[in-house]
Amino acid sequence: MEVVLTHNEPINTEECPKPEKSHKRSKISRDVETDIELLYKAVPQIGKVFRIIDKIGEGTFSSVYLGEAQMHDGSRQKFALKHLIPTSHPTRIAAELQCLTLAGGQENVMGVTYCFRKEDHVVIVMPYLEHKAIVDIISSLSFEEVRLYIYNLLRALKHIHQFGIIHRDIKPNNFLYNRKTKEYALVDFGLAQGTADTQIDLLKDLSGLRKVQRPVFGERNINSCTQVSATTKATSAQTEFVKVAKAEDPANRRYLSAGRGSAALKSQGANQKPQRAVPLGVTCSCFQTDRVCNICLSRKQQIAPRAGTPGFRAPEVLTKCPNQGTAIDVWSAGVILLSLLSGRYPFFKASDDLIALSQIMTIRGSRETIQAAKAFGKSIVCSRELPRQDLRVLCETLRGHRPSPDDDDYVTPLPQNNGTVSGKPPIPDETPTHRPIEEQVKPEDTYDNTSLHTGHMETEQWDGGWGGVPDEAYDLLDRLLELNPAKRITAADALTHPLFTDLIQLT
Ligand code: ADP
Ligand code: MG
Ligand code: ZN
Repeated sequence: MEVVLTHNEPINTEECPKPEKSHKRSKISRDVETDIELLYKAVPQIGKVFRIIDKIGEGTFSSVYLGEAQMHDGSRQKFALKHLIPTSHPTRIAAELQCLTLAGGQENVMGVTYCFRKEDHVVIVMPYLEHKAIVDIISSLSFEEVRLYIYNLLRALKHIHQFGIIHRDIKPNNFLYNRKTKEYALVDFGLAQGTADTQIDLLKDLSGLRKVQRPVFGERNINSCTQVSATTKATSAQTEFVKVAKAEDPANRRYLSAGRGSAALKSQGANQKPQRAVPLGVTCSCFQTDRVCNICLSRKQQIAPRAGTPGFRAPEVLTKCPNQGTAIDVWSAGVILLSLLSGRYPFFKASDDLIALSQIMTIRGSRETIQAAKAFGKSIVCSRELPRQDLRVLCETLRGHRPSPDDDDYVTPLPQNNGTVSGKPPIPDETPTHRPIEEQVKPEDTYDNTSLHTGHMETEQWDGGWGGVPDEAYDLLDRLLELNPAKRITAADALTHPLFTDLIQLT
């Protein structure tokens, strides 16, 4: 048993508080109860310090619990206990901890209080930040809250990027937000990687591990020449390997044969040679067809990091560009801003990297995407041209602030294909107009946008500031969602963007 102390002994290990019946979370399921028992058994030290109240998160690589400890001054404090799956690589675990200890506890980055280990079980103890899932609050967020949320996310990104940490999994689930206290915390360094000059030593050690990296759990590898059938249901995209013997073009390739109305995509490394020996002179004929031949199947996969969540992945990640930097986190922040401005979460829902890429093209334009990819050494073929969308028109249409499809001057926000964007009409509870009454109260710290209204403020319900979103918001969005990572704004520069003029002195 090892207890690593990273903080000034705040916890009284003598008196473990007795379970309280009155706790509002006392109704936990059998499964959760069983998991809590198993955790107490796996790491008995936990039970001496904490009373575990509930499970608050469950992912592929960890389970997170809410625990309570009695402090020396008699008060009780809540903590989040992250139990990592026992199969996690020790260096991976140590790197996650090092990110939290060195960069955490400041600038909206979660800190760490303790770490327990018994055999292969590791539990990271962090201060608990109460928060709600973004999907539950998105419809009631005011524009000012969105502006502050993005500002605070960018602060966390600037901070970790200064340490040479690439988070790689920036999404609302990993950026906790407490609406009442206006606290924010970036969590989950489980996929983090270091830049070339990272200050996190253990992230350097991870680069050795990456060479033997397994495909990310639960996701298909699209690295080999892979046929993807995107159907109208985003979730039913399938991969089929078709055995074909003839050959013609030896290039390393992939092909997306899209279903109804969607764009077909092919992306290939312009500078990469196939890594597994395909006999010289042997060519294949699957180029630009919807099959994958054995020759292409036998090509060795190109290794490039691609951890993260498809809908938040930057174009350079989706196309497996080997040189990825902190700009990938900035792209993800852009996707979050797009989601919050349009009121749709998730915005991109992709089960596959090429579907995700086609979804990006529907917003940012196919020609623009192809051109940007060329700049980072990737060649993409798209079967049809998708125009670049005006971001304000797109967001306002999705928010219902612009004419609907029944109106004459309706602007098609998105191609109606393969579930590209979560384009279905919002369910009533998520629509801004159906916001619960108590949420419609204008927050005290809201920035004054009354000048943008035309005098109906007293009689009309406040619209959350959505009627007067300034151009700066869409300008920042445009810069965050810059397709070429070399041109994409950095988190540090984004913080000085005119959208945040009134906040700059606080940084
Ligand atoms: P995973 O690697 O499994 O995604 P995370 O570190 O992202 O693990 O934690 C999963 C979830 O647990 C988060 O999305 C969040 O809801 C919750 N969580 C994690 N850390 C904290 C914390 N310090 N305070 C409150 N909730 C937390
Ligand atoms: Mg997470
Ligand atoms: Zn082939």
